[in-house]
Amino acid sequence: MSIDYLRVSVTDRCNLRCIYCNPLGDCGFIDRREILRFEEIHRIVGLFAECGISKVRLTGGEPLVRKNIVVLVEKLAATDGIKELSMTTNGVLLAQMADELKAAGLNRVNISIDSVERENYKRITGFELLEKVTKGIYKAIEVGLTPVKINTVVLRQINEQDIPALAKLSIDMPIAVRFIEYCPTDKNAVPNKFFVPNSRVRRIIENRFGSLAAAMMVKANGPAVYFKIKDSSGCVGFISGKSTFFCQSCNRLRLTSDGKVRPCLYSAHHYDVKELIRGGAGDERILTLLKKIIIEKHTYTKLNSFKEEFSMRNVGG
Ligand code: SAM
Repeated sequence: MSIDYLRVSVTDRCNLRCIYCNPLGDCGFIDRREILRFEEIHRIVGLFAECGISKVRLTGGEPLVRKNIVVLVEKLAATDGIKELSMTTNGVLLAQMADELKAAGLNRVNISIDSVERENYKRITGFELLEKVTKGIYKAIEVGLTPVKINTVVLRQINEQDIPALAKLSIDMPIAVRFIEYCPTDKNAVPNKFFVPNSRVRRIIENRFGSLAAAMMVKANGPAVYFKIKDSSGCVGFISGKSTFFCQSCNRLRLTSDGKVRPCLYSAHHYDVKELIRGGAGDERILTLLKKIIIEKHTYTKLNSFKEEFSMRNVGG
């Protein structure tokens, strides 16, 4: 499996307080001086492109709260070797920024939404912003940040009842609604007992809409497995990171907001690229490290990683 995909967390800040990701809100942030500057991200991405990375996804934290993010999008989209630039966003600021993101060269977006019911959305995220996110989804389709994918983390007794309404979005709109298994990351987030296996999510969808048919998804870069509800415009997907094992086909690396490359989401192992850059290293030296990371990538897997707390908003979900 060639390593061609890099996720870049551009900030650990977020404008939502999801109970499973950022429950404490505005605290415990990384010192701003430690966060990678745009020119540093651009340099790292450019060097990674020389090593075969051709797809980049911006994430966070919430990438749209990073000041002047459009400038970074423009730089990365114009980088030699980068063929696909996408973003994972909570969608709150998307309706107002979609036009300029598209014009700057962003290809598409994944939008996270865990409930389409106003009160429940607020309960999960801490804010009454469902309407803004919904507008963001429509706007993303309108300006062509497509195919739009929706990310939903399902939590027991929190949003299981929302599964049919979320799946129905894929009937009405040409989007992929992906159900992501919860991965407990730190002691402040909701505990493991809220975990719902995707086998159960699928059963709920099939009970409501009938059997799912296997589907292909264009621009499918990851571990999601796709299906279609009969007569739907879009599709549903399942990302079962907890109940299945797909490390052997993992093609991604992660660049944290403070400049560390992590070969595996489940492993605490990392390589400090920022240290090299700020220490004045030349391109050749950095390239040597990036090539080593790519060669060693598959030695780090879910199975051989020791458990350690980590922050999804820093590593980049
Ligand atoms: N703020 C952006 C957003 O909301 O999409 C990007 C960052 S967020 C960390 C990226 C994705 O990770 C979201 O779809 C979120 O639902 C998912 N996520 C966060 N914490 C998670 C966890 N503990 N288990 C599974 N998925 C998680």
